[in-house]
Amino acid sequence: MEQQNHKKVLINPVFTTIADAAKELGVDTYVIGGFVRDYLLDRGIPKDIDIVAVGSGIDLAKRVASLLPGNPKVSVFKNFGTAMINHKGQELEFVGARKESYHRESRKPVVEDGTLAEDQKRRDFTINALALSLNEEDFGTLLDPFNGLGDLTRKLIRTPLEPGITYSDDPLRMMRAIRFATQLGFTIHSDSLAAIIEHKQRIKIISQERIVDELHKILGSEKPSAGFASLYETGLLQYILPELKALEGIEEVEGQRHKDNFWHTLEVVDNIAKTTENLWLRWAALLHDIGKAPTKRFHKRIGWTFHGHEFVGSKMVYALFKRLRMPLNEKMKFVQKMVRMSSRPIILSEDFVTDSAVRRLIFDAGDHLEDLMTLCEADITTKNPRKQRKYKNNFKLVRQKIVEVEERDHVRNFQPPIGGEEIMQTFGLKPSREIGILKEAIKEAILEGVIPNEYSAAQNYMLQKGNEMGLKAKI
Ligand code: ATP
Repeated sequence: MEQQNHKKVLINPVFTTIADAAKELGVDTYVIGGFVRDYLLDRGIPKDIDIVAVGSGIDLAKRVASLLPGNPKVSVFKNFGTAMINHKGQELEFVGARKESYHRESRKPVVEDGTLAEDQKRRDFTINALALSLNEEDFGTLLDPFNGLGDLTRKLIRTPLEPGITYSDDPLRMMRAIRFATQLGFTIHSDSLAAIIEHKQRIKIISQERIVDELHKILGSEKPSAGFASLYETGLLQYILPELKALEGIEEVEGQRHKDNFWHTLEVVDNIAKTTENLWLRWAALLHDIGKAPTKRFHKRIGWTFHGHEFVGSKMVYALFKRLRMPLNEKMKFVQKMVRMSSRPIILSEDFVTDSAVRRLIFDAGDHLEDLMTLCEADITTKNPRKQRKYKNNFKLVRQKIVEVEERDHVRNFQPPIGGEEIMQTFGLKPSREIGILKEAIKEAILEGVIPNEYSAAQNYMLQKGNEMGLKAKI
């Protein structure tokens, strides 16, 4: 296959333009990295194209832009020696071939101009070092000095150079190895794994943003558990998500054991990955049990408990997002809410389902009820087929009940039928505590099913409650 020509994938006119520009400038030019990898893996034609020039990547980019229809803008990153063109929604990234050497305290290398072969050596993995020639004499030829093609077939993540040096030089590659293995369903070569384990503490020099980028990609993959299991096995998890690591292990006291909440969590994440692409719901699945480590207790009579773990867990979400420099916005609030409510439908499904419990669930979950149900269904990881059936069936009943109750009572996005203004006018009140008390009483009465969610019933109830509180209606 190495001799095979790959002209066909270079059919996009943009490649001819790049080849023309390169010829004019007299620089050898190649497509390299993800584009070649994904094409050889048949993962579809990738959006982004990385081009390496044996010469100035910036000059090449400028010449390419001048030849492309519409003369697109070139963004130049002088410090990195790279340039980018956005052409018809495709990102073309240009870099000059380089040779790199590293200092211990930084992942920023000392860079010198180099040959293609030197550039391929600085790439993280053999499967990312594959290059296709855009030069006239061998257009479409694959240049594969490290047998990346063989690793694609063997489904192996391997480094071109000695793994210890590769990972220690740029510890982000440890995360990238695990991420690519997860996305592609590949195995990490045992020498690489050993090197990651050896250099794991070097992850500390990587910015949280870069780590989070990789975590998002792991979580966004088809089977995220593979990535989190590798993070655990290499010891990286301790540095990145200690809250998750703390869930690992089974304790036994007086013959009573609890489940291993780390491995359970990974099953939940895989389950949810089958039903939703929503990254933040996947985060919620990953974090839904983190409150269990700090709340774990053993009681002689009842055994293991994790009282209040949902509430504690939702508080931990804030600290975790903050540490990882993730946005502290509505996405985080959503994750917190999912964690906080993560046991609610389960409790419902175990008990006899009352209308008022369902109304409260609809009211509290609001627009996120569907997501919450998805999370809770993913949380069923029992291996006992009878229990599995029973829980799934119970959830079906809860879902049915939700539809029934919602059709009748409309408590989703509940707007109280009587507002504070009307309460003030009715009893001639100034803004005061009483108004809050009455509003809460009306809401509770509706959720409990004491009165229907209707204006006249709420009005009567307000008058009755006001009376009990010693208030006199003025109108
Ligand atoms: P994807 O777009 O799926 O993340 P990709 O391979 O295109 O895959 P990029 O991060 O865009 O990933 O990197 C482009 C190429 O640059 C890689 O294929 C690899 O050759 C090289 N590369 C990126 N990051 C590193 C790194 N930290 N160390 C060495 N080479 C790297």
